[in-house]
Amino acid sequence: MHRRIMAPGALAAASLMLAIPASAASHSPGAPGIGDPYYPAYGNGGYDVSHYDLRLRYQPATDELAGTATVLAKTTQDLSRFNLDFLLDVQEVRVNGAKASFATSGEHELEITPKKPLAKGTAITVVVRYRGVPSSKEAYGFTAWLRTPDGGVAAGEPEAAWWWFPSNDHPLDKATYDVSVQVPDGTQFVSNGTLQSTSSRAGWTRYSWRSNKPQATYLATFAAGRFDVTTGTSESGIPIINAYSKDLGDRAGAARASIERTGEIADWMSEYFGPYPYDALGGYVPNTTTGYALETQTRPYYSPRNFANGSNTAVVVHELAHQWWGDSVSVKDWKDIWINEGFARYAQWLWSEHEGEGTAQEIADYVYASRSADDAFWTVRPGDPGPENQFHIAVYDRGALALQALRNEIGDEAFFAILKGWPQKFAHGNASVADFERYAEEVSGKPLAALFDTWLFQPSKPAAGTARAASIAKGSVAPARPKSWQKIAATNGVHEHEH
Ligand SMILES: [Zn+2]
Repeated sequence: MHRRIMAPGALAAASLMLAIPASAASHSPGAPGIGDPYYPAYGNGGYDVSHYDLRLRYQPATDELAGTATVLAKTTQDLSRFNLDFLLDVQEVRVNGAKASFATSGEHELEITPKKPLAKGTAITVVVRYRGVPSSKEAYGFTAWLRTPDGGVAAGEPEAAWWWFPSNDHPLDKATYDVSVQVPDGTQFVSNGTLQSTSSRAGWTRYSWRSNKPQATYLATFAAGRFDVTTGTSESGIPIINAYSKDLGDRAGAARASIERTGEIADWMSEYFGPYPYDALGGYVPNTTTGYALETQTRPYYSPRNFANGSNTAVVVHELAHQWWGDSVSVKDWKDIWINEGFARYAQWLWSEHEGEGTAQEIADYVYASRSADDAFWTVRPGDPGPENQFHIAVYDRGALALQALRNEIGDEAFFAILKGWPQKFAHGNASVADFERYAEEVSGKPLAALFDTWLFQPSKPAAGTARAASIAKGSVAPARPKSWQKIAATNGVHEHEH
């Protein structure tokens, strides 16, 4: 989603593993990171979360958020202590009903020491009572919280959760969610999944949302503001809830003309990727000033700027494709980002073809031909781009180009079998680039190591002969810019984020 200047996680992790508590020798602290090479301090070790229950109150006038998070988890080692990732101010923590002591450390660690050490395999209920002003909190010198004139929004990748709920903040630990937030009457609260209920009392309205399929922490979203809400059902029967800030001005029409096509686009996509993975659909556009969009689960986040120059279905296609590629099947490590972005970009190429604005082959030819060999674009390796290039345009365009090369190598039948089979095989789980390579070889029956190495891992432009062998840019004339190019490129800004 956004481009990062530096890898923040690397700084914090080192200092955290020193202290051994005096308690039970066989019990040790859970690691302060889950083990991601790009972001060593993200997520935590020692337990696995199954459910988050967030019961909160938010005041848009002051940006104050307060309430209780109840986290259901199971320990995966004998634990003397464990961490959650969180930035707001904690009043109390209980583990299985008993008051626990807690402290903060690093950039976003909440260290919890239960009264008694926890044996491996124990079901735990962690209750965290907290309050704070999210916009006042920073980690690594930035905030992902989006304060708006009428409220606040959490939608960021890879970090967003720290500003509104304590979590094991890494896609490896997915969970279901109940998110119930009280806002003043006249303000709406939007989150993921289905709206279970709303109720009003004493000037406050409570919105209760449910995500009943595993969801990564960065895909959980919080949006409080003044919205116009539309509802519907896709032709295939999925309920749709969209929300548009009342303050979109002259971009309101273009936003609706794009996002109201969510059901149509999701149905079209399911022909390529198999059944839509969730029981809820939609999108929302708060009045933020960012340029990006994000595939927040079941209900993507869009910026008003995505619709500044008219409607753009390409951005809707991109975020909905992520529901299969990124949300249902999530990265194992953040270095696997190509599994998300290469495919969401390729879905935009398929949509272009569907709309008669250029075939995937034509766009691939154009990407290859329009980037000269000395363009830094080719130094980025989509298969392992490094944290500083995690959201580089090459992960998208070179990443999708790699898929066209794969398609040409193995043929349409095997290629589209892979696009449909993968989201089923790893549904609601995690997978890596290496898993994809293995799967593609298995389905196609062809050795593909050299092809993936060339298109995903070499820090240079594949030679003309190699490209021709993969049926990329075979023609003798320079490929014309496809009609869809501008609209797809307009979604590139969605991956920029100025801190
Ligand atoms: Zn994306």
